[in-house]
Amino acid sequence: MSWTARVLTLFPEMFPGPLGHSLAGRALKRGDWALEPIDLRYFATDRHRSVDDAPFGGGAGMVMRADVIDAALEAKSLPDAPQIVLTPRGRPLTQRRVAELAAGPGVVLVCGRYEGIDQRVIEARGLEEISIGDYVLSGGEPAAMVLLDACVRLLPGVMGAAESVLEESFSQGLLEYPHYTRPALWKGRAVPEVLISGNHAEIAAWRRREAERITRERRPDLWAAYRALAEAAPTA
Ligand code: SAM
Repeated sequence: MSWTARVLTLFPEMFPGPLGHSLAGRALKRGDWALEPIDLRYFATDRHRSVDDAPFGGGAGMVMRADVIDAALEAKSLPDAPQIVLTPRGRPLTQRRVAELAAGPGVVLVCGRYEGIDQRVIEARGLEEISIGDYVLSGGEPAAMVLLDACVRLLPGVMGAAESVLEESFSQGLLEYPHYTRPALWKGRAVPEVLISGNHAEIAAWRRREAERITRERRPDLWAAYRALAEAAPTA
């Protein structure tokens, strides 16, 4: 069975959306991964098919019901696949977690709407809470698409050149170096000379220095972790 994503959502028609195009879309058509949007409304039990209700304690907005999400998870779990709820309160998604997820059998994703999901189902099911950043979306679907896009490109055979995964941002704890293509001179701006030197060792060293500079300037958090790792590494 190929890597499978089950997405529990009130808006299954949003999928595959952007995931149906380009790299992820071609991989989906080839069967390198499978996408199963599941309509949460199907698991509503009352005669109005309600999936949400007013919050205990008052306040604005509605809350998605624990019993509906629990029934959907019961019916749609995937053996050994993590069950994840997308939420701004979650642990920030990292490339490391993406790589772990891509190495497994797939994921079951729960997309929130309204104010979010009844806490009891998150605890009862031990759902992993993941955020895609410190901002609030109107629903979990775009967040699910971000997570899936990041995972799918790491699946075997999906990306063309294996090196591009090894060298890109975060893979070695650094942001990536800058890229250039033809023409060599554009609006008075020349490509760094080293890149047209043909000297592969010098090009690699320049790229490393640039990756380090950019990471140091833009992401002190990543830079500190990278330095700590480099200092802890045994010297030859
Ligand atoms: N009341 C929530 C709060 O303040 O944390 C925000 C709810 S938001 C309007 C509705 C849904 O969008 C959430 O339940 C979650 O599934 C999704 N969502 C919003 N922002 C997100 C983020 N940064 N990462 C992941 N999911 C997010």
